[in-house]
Amino acid sequence: MFRTHSCGELTVEHIGERVTLAGWVHRRRDHGGLVFIDLRDRAGLVQVVFSPEVSGAGHGVATDLRNEYVLQVIGDVAKRPPGTENPNIATGEVEVLVQQVQILNPSKTPPFNINEDIEVEENLRLRYRYLDLRRSGVKQNILLRHRVIKFMRDFLDERGFIEIETPILIKSTPEGARDYLVPSRVHPGRFYALPQSPQQLKQLLMVAGFEKYFQVARCFRDEDLRADRQPEFTQLDLEMSFIDEEDILVLMEELFTSLVENITPNMRILKPFPRLSYRDTMERYGTDKPDLRYGLEIRGISDIVAGSEFTVFRSALDAGGVVRGICAPGCAHYSRRQLDELAEFVRTYGAKGLITLPIGEQEAKSVLGKHLTADQIGEMARCFEAKERDLLLMVAGETQIVEESLGALRGEMARRLGLLDANLLFFCFILDYPLLQKVEGSRWEPMHHPFTAPRDEDIPLIDSAPERVHAKHYDLVCNGCELSSGSIRIHNRELQEKVFKLLGYGKEEVKKRFGYLLEAFEYGAPPHGGIAPGIDRVVMLLAGAESIRDVIPFPKNKSAVDVMFDAPSEISEEQLRELHLRLRLD
Ligand code: ASP
Repeated sequence: MFRTHSCGELTVEHIGERVTLAGWVHRRRDHGGLVFIDLRDRAGLVQVVFSPEVSGAGHGVATDLRNEYVLQVIGDVAKRPPGTENPNIATGEVEVLVQQVQILNPSKTPPFNINEDIEVEENLRLRYRYLDLRRSGVKQNILLRHRVIKFMRDFLDERGFIEIETPILIKSTPEGARDYLVPSRVHPGRFYALPQSPQQLKQLLMVAGFEKYFQVARCFRDEDLRADRQPEFTQLDLEMSFIDEEDILVLMEELFTSLVENITPNMRILKPFPRLSYRDTMERYGTDKPDLRYGLEIRGISDIVAGSEFTVFRSALDAGGVVRGICAPGCAHYSRRQLDELAEFVRTYGAKGLITLPIGEQEAKSVLGKHLTADQIGEMARCFEAKERDLLLMVAGETQIVEESLGALRGEMARRLGLLDANLLFFCFILDYPLLQKVEGSRWEPMHHPFTAPRDEDIPLIDSAPERVHAKHYDLVCNGCELSSGSIRIHNRELQEKVFKLLGYGKEEVKKRFGYLLEAFEYGAPPHGGIAPGIDRVVMLLAGAESIRDVIPFPKNKSAVDVMFDAPSEISEEQLRELHLRLRLD
C-alpha cells in the first residue's frame, strides 16, 4: 500500500501503530539532533520526527528536505512529549517517529509560501494556481464547494428532480449579456453560441415531460467585468412543471436553510426568509439586492422639505426628483474631511452632492440650519427616528441616482460602523418585479429574461400600459448579493410572441432565433417555472470569501484572462483558415 493513513487523520487512537504516509513538506525545523517536518496531505498536517537514533539514514535524508518536497514515510505513531502538543492542529497530540523515508519528488522553491496565510498578488497566485490551491484557505473553499454541490444534488434527487445535461455548443440564449461564439469548421460562416444559461433547453425539457429538472450548469456571458463576475460561472439550474411561484419559494427556502444548517452550522440563518416587493426594496434600500443584516434604511423626506427654498432641494423637486436620506447613528461628530469623503463617495454614483445634518448641538454646522425651520428639522429627525448625536445624510435628485447613491452609501456606512455580521446569512426574496424596464429612454427590456410570464391580471395591460405590467419573477438575495433570479414562464405561443414584439424583435428574427421554442409551445407545453442559484456566489458566502475567484478552482483574473494558460490566446493562420475566418484588428 502506498500509504496506510492520511496525515490529517492521525489521533491518539493510532498511538503505537506503524503507519505509511505520503505528502508534502509543509514546514521543516532542524533542532540540531532532531529534524521535525510538518507533513501535509489533503486531510491535514502531522508532525513527523527524524531522529538519528531511530534511523540514521532517515535523519540524513531529512537534513536535505525543503518545503514542498513530496515524501513517503514509514514510522510509528507516538504521543508527543508533555508540553509539546499543538492545539492548533487536529493531529497536535501525536507525532510520527520516522523509520524510513523516500523522496518521491523534490520541489523548486515556490514563488510564494504555501505554509503562510499571507496576502499574495492575485496574478501571481493565478499564474501558479496549482500551488495557490495547496494553500489552506483556497483549498478549504474548494472542498466546501464539493460539499455544497453534493448537498444540492442529494437534496433535489430526494425530491424527485432529474439531473440532465444540456449542450454547450448551442445557439444564442439571451440573459442580457453578449454571447461567446464558436466558429464552425464544417459549416463555413456559421457559429455556435455558448449558453448564457440553459434557459430555453430546460423549458424544452418541461415540454418533454420531465417535470422536475436540475443541472449544475456552466453559463457563459461576455459582459463587462465586475468584482463578482466571471466569463463562465456555475448555476444550480432548475425547472419544474405544474407549479406556481410559491412552490419555488418554498423549495428555495428549504434548500438554503438545510444547506446552511448541514454544511456551515456555525453560521446563523433567519427563517422564514422575508419577502419584499421590488418597489419597496428600492425605496428602503436603494437596490434590489439589499443587505438586511443592518438597518440604516433610506427614508423619503420630499414632503417635509417641499416648501423649502434651499436650492438643492428645490431644484431636485422641481425637476420631478426626490430627496431621501439615511441616518448614521452616533456619527454627528464626523469631521469635515470625513463628510467630504462621503460626498465624494456618492458623487461616484452620479449624485450632485451630499447634504448632512448632525442632530443635536452641532445642527448649526449644517447648511440646513439656515434654510429649514426648527419644525422642519424636528420633523426630519422624527422621520429618520434620529437621536442626539446621529448624522443625517441626504441626497437630492433624480430618483434612480438617489436610490443608487444612497443604496451604496448605506453599505459604506455599515462597513464604517462595523455592522456587517460575518456569521449571519440574511436571505430574502424580492417579488413583484415589473416585467419590463425602459432603456435608452425608449426601448423595453425584460427585467429578467424574455420568457418570464406577466401576472395574469396584468396581461390586458401589455398593449396599453406595459410599464404597469408585473411579472411572475422572484429573486433570492443574501447579505446584499443576488443569488438567483427565477420566474414562472410563458408557455403559450401567442403571449410569447406578444412579449417578443414588445421587446422590439421583428417577426423574422423571432422565427430565426426562437422558432423552435414557439413551435414547442404548440405541442402541449405544461405551465412551468424555475430558478437558478449561482453556485459560486453561494459558496463565496458560506466560505466568507471576498471574491468568487476564491471559490472557483481555475478562475480568470479581473481582465477575463487565464494567466496560467494564457487564454485567450492567438491562433495560427492555419486554424483561422480552417475556420474560414480572417482577422479584423482595426
Ligand atoms: N436562466 C435564468 C438566469 O440565468 C434563471 C431562471 O430564470 O431560471 O438568470
